[in-house]
Amino acid sequence: MSWLFPRLLAGLVTMVLGGLLGYAFGLPIHAPVIVGLMGGIVAVGALATRDTLRGVRLIDWLHGPQSSDAPRDAGFWGEIGYRVERSLRACERERVRERARLQQFLEAIEASPNGVLMLDPQDRIDWCNSVAASHFGLDPQRDRLQRITNLVRSPAFVAYLQAGNFQEPVQFSDPRGMGMLSVLVREYGEGMRLVLSKDITERERADAMRRDFVANVSHEIRTPLTVVAGFVETMASLPLTETERKRVLVLMEQQTSRMQTLVSDLLTLAQLEGSPRPASDRWMPVSKLLRQVETDARTLSRGRHSITLSTETGTEIAGAEVEVLSAMGNLVGNAVRYTPDGGTIDIGWRRLGDGCGEFSVRDTGLGIEPEHIPRLTERFYRVDGSRSRDTGGTGLGLSIVKHVVQRHGGELTIESEPGKGSRFRAVFPAARVRYVEPGSDLDSTAAPRPVDQGGAEAR
Ligand code: ADP
Repeated sequence: MSWLFPRLLAGLVTMVLGGLLGYAFGLPIHAPVIVGLMGGIVAVGALATRDTLRGVRLIDWLHGPQSSDAPRDAGFWGEIGYRVERSLRACERERVRERARLQQFLEAIEASPNGVLMLDPQDRIDWCNSVAASHFGLDPQRDRLQRITNLVRSPAFVAYLQAGNFQEPVQFSDPRGMGMLSVLVREYGEGMRLVLSKDITERERADAMRRDFVANVSHEIRTPLTVVAGFVETMASLPLTETERKRVLVLMEQQTSRMQTLVSDLLTLAQLEGSPRPASDRWMPVSKLLRQVETDARTLSRGRHSITLSTETGTEIAGAEVEVLSAMGNLVGNAVRYTPDGGTIDIGWRRLGDGCGEFSVRDTGLGIEPEHIPRLTERFYRVDGSRSRDTGGTGLGLSIVKHVVQRHGGELTIESEPGKGSRFRAVFPAARVRYVEPGSDLDSTAAPRPVDQGGAEAR
């Protein structure tokens, strides 16, 4: 009411002044009253005009963007302007805060490794993060408000969405045909749906590999086990001559040793997979390793092949001795097993220009068809199953070699020509190869060093 009192007072004062003026000029008694009233009307009119102008100014400001301050007038229009401006500014601040919160929320969903997609009650796309867009092959802007089932046509997904039973996720191959998706739907709000998607390609692949692996191992073990069981039964039920008994025992021994080799290769693989990378400061002389490998090759070959060795003294390699020996031994063993009698096997080591070290085994054996080469390092992959088994192979050798070489930061390459022979090369990185002057402080052959006990050791 603070604005009303001054106006009433001003009207009253003007009226009294008008009356006094009329009286002073000796006018009849009704004349001062009339003049007083006129004065009052003029004063009230002047105040009303001033207030109208102020009100118009305020309305103009309200019609505008309100970026400037409200008119700072005295009186009630000024008061209204100030209060309106204050509440507008408060709303604006709240809106900015809300927008920042929404942005943060969207960024958090965007950072999720899973796809998040929101559907309206008509199953039209309301919003999706970029992971969901990539999972379903969508364009978040272009496909907004499109029905999801028009864009993702996988029958399993469409049926899942239509059935409305979202207890369990549904799995189907992603629309780009590049992998598998697991999708879970959650309902919220009024008929809205949240679609959560996850790429399970790797998991599925690992599961399939595990299943294959178990099936392969079972098969590999069952075969010799069946043979041994048959022989045991034969020995138990049939009267055998001494010669027959000896023959059966030899065959049984062959089968059990096949199982032993298989189990030992499986353990090696498990160890390689479960242990940390070999230390890069355990140095071993390459020439010693190669001599050992050459001896083993000659033993296995029993003079049926011509075996040569070319190495260089002073070179050392860092890593796990047992692992490196096993990889080199596998490559040389394969060369012996897959090279017909009279063939040649060259075992070699050389340092490459960039400081890397290359171990190579070249043979003049059977060779391998090009289509098999990329798959040779898969577990249990064999080009010729019967030949591999006849020569004591498990199908795990090259898989072990690849693992060992990779654990040492190297790379395995295979070149082969059917009927002419093969060359297997394991290239070790420069960081794991060094040249040591014979007799120098670094020479690992000069002083006794702790012997590496294998890759499974934590160092
Ligand atoms: P295996 O125990 O069967 O030898 P590997 O993993 O060592 O298993 O080798 C996989 C397959 O690669 C072998 O079955 C064989 O067919 C082929 N292979 C490996 N080394 C040679 C080689 N030097 N010459 C020809 N074929 C080879």
